Amino acid sequence: MVKAIKKIGVLTSGGDAPGMNACIRAVVRTGIYLGKEVVGIKQGYQGMVDRKFVNMDSHSVCNIIQLGGTILKTARCDEFRTYEGRQKAYKNLKKEGIDALVAIGGDGTFTGAELLSREFDIPVICVPGTIDNDLYGSDFTLGYDTANNTVIEAIDKIRDTAASHDRLFFIEVMGRDSGCIALWAGTAGGAEAILLPEKDTGIEDLIQKLEKGADSNKSSSIVIIAEGDKNGGAYHVAKLVKEKFQFYDIKVTILGHLQRGGSPTSFDRVLASRLGYAAVKALEAGETRKMVGIRGNRVKLTDLVESINNNSFKLEEDLMEMSTILTI
Ligand code: ATP
Repeated sequence: MVKAIKKIGVLTSGGDAPGMNACIRAVVRTGIYLGKEVVGIKQGYQGMVDRKFVNMDSHSVCNIIQLGGTILKTARCDEFRTYEGRQKAYKNLKKEGIDALVAIGGDGTFTGAELLSREFDIPVICVPGTIDNDLYGSDFTLGYDTANNTVIEAIDKIRDTAASHDRLFFIEVMGRDSGCIALWAGTAGGAEAILLPEKDTGIEDLIQKLEKGADSNKSSSIVIIAEGDKNGGAYHVAKLVKEKFQFYDIKVTILGHLQRGGSPTSFDRVLASRLGYAAVKALEAGETRKMVGIRGNRVKLTDLVESINNNSFKLEEDLMEMSTILTI
């Protein structure tokens, strides 16, 4: 028989992502609707180790659906990587009467949640929250859509100045080992070339592409470079290309952390609400050690171990092929 849950702890962990607040709101309000108490755990696993708990009522999540970042804050916690650290965290949860968890974060957060749940028999459900969109079991992660929109706004603005001055711009975007943001935003922004970690585009290939563009009278171009691309980053690529294209005025923009902030898009707000709601419903149904994700516009559960073990996210081949054709 499934043990009834009385008090749910919710935390955000790893890198912050727009939509985390909308998800916290959904967890709190669904929990309260189902007759549970909900406790916010501050600064991810660090707050669990340090007993930083805050009672959440329906009012405590008013006016946060539109906010980027996370009201619970987030942190990286090395102590939680050890058994002793997780034991301390579990004892704190017990003292507080927390008997189930919703953890919002990336694959590191999932790994910590899975270990804690297995070692101390506490139910956990995870929600994919990262702008990188690199988690197996969900077509989209919280924050990805907002980050893409931030990037295309930047591309559009840079294109104005690139076109006015006949410049070649290299724009580096986030994503760590994943080229999701680069591919999606590069496609949406009409980039002339996109360099991805998942695809071997050497400098020679890029130069050929840019030469073709110059031959067809393109006076300005934008190249999107994923931060995980193997060619050594935007500055290095720009330097190598400059050696071949003396006539081009070359500029580099690293978009950096502005991609992590901002008010979540409607897509991220609705996704966050759906997944937060589904996470609490899953706990109520007796599920544990699962990730709630979205697949084919349906909420689906995936075993945490399966999600963690398939962490080398694959970009869709057809999207990569299409982007190559459309960027010539
Ligand atoms: P992002 O994708 O934004 O980096 P993440 O959840 O992958 O998010 P991490 O820093 O990798 O971010 O992990 C968040 C926290 O999860 C870590 O600070 C640590 O407390 C916990 N964690 C990560 N890996 C493990 C592990 N192997 N064992 C136990 N806990 C872990």
